[in-house]
Amino acid sequence: ADLDAVIKAGIRDIPDFPSEGVLFKDITPLLADPVSLRTVVAALAGPHRAGGVDAVVGLEARGFILAAPVALELDAGFVPVRKAGKLPAETYRESYHLEYGTATVEMHVDAIAPGDRVLIVDDVLATGGTGRAAVDLVRKAGGTVVGFSVLLELGFLSGRGKLTDVDVSALTAA
Ligand code: 5GP
Repeated sequence: ADLDAVIKAGIRDIPDFPSEGVLFKDITPLLADPVSLRTVVAALAGPHRAGGVDAVVGLEARGFILAAPVALELDAGFVPVRKAGKLPAETYRESYHLEYGTATVEMHVDAIAPGDRVLIVDDVLATGGTGRAAVDLVRKAGGTVVGFSVLLELGFLSGRGKLTDVDVSALTAA
C-alpha cells in the first residue's frame, strides 16, 4: 500500500475528544503497528538525509515519539520543546493564542547552538500555533529551521498560513 493509505489506516477519529465538538485524530494504532511506525519514521526523515541536520526538535508529547527515531535516522540529536514548567534548566519561552486562553512552550537555551540546522517534527498540524512557537524558539537560539514535518495536516484549520516562512511538509492531509 502507498504511504497515504498506510497512514490513513493507522489513524482513527475520536468524536468529542478532548472536548465536545472536536474530532480528534488518534495516531496510536499507527504507532502500535511495527511496519507503519517504521514506514512513517523513514518518510519523515527521507527528504533530510543529505540535509546536514544537527538536531530534530520534537513537540510534546506525541511529537517526541516521532522525533527521536527521526533523529536517529539522521544522525542528529533530539531536542524537546515542552509545555511551560516541565524543563528543568534555563529556557526560552513562546506563548500563543488558543481558542480559549493561551499556551506557553519552552526549550532549553543551550539545546541548540547558533547555526545549527534544525528539523521540527510533530504528529499533527492543526491551527499552527504550536508549530509557530517552536519555529520561533529555534530561531531565538540562533538555529536555522530546515523544515517542519508532520504526519498529518488538518487542512481546514489552515495552520500553514502561520508558517509561510518555513518549509512545511505533511505525509498526509485531512
Ligand atoms: P495546533 O497548535 O497546530 O493547533 O495544534 C497542534 C498540536 O495539537 C500538536 O502538538 C498536536 O499533537 C495537537 N493536536 C491538535 N489536534 C490534534 C488531533 O486531532 N490529533 C492529534 N493526535 N493531535 C492533535
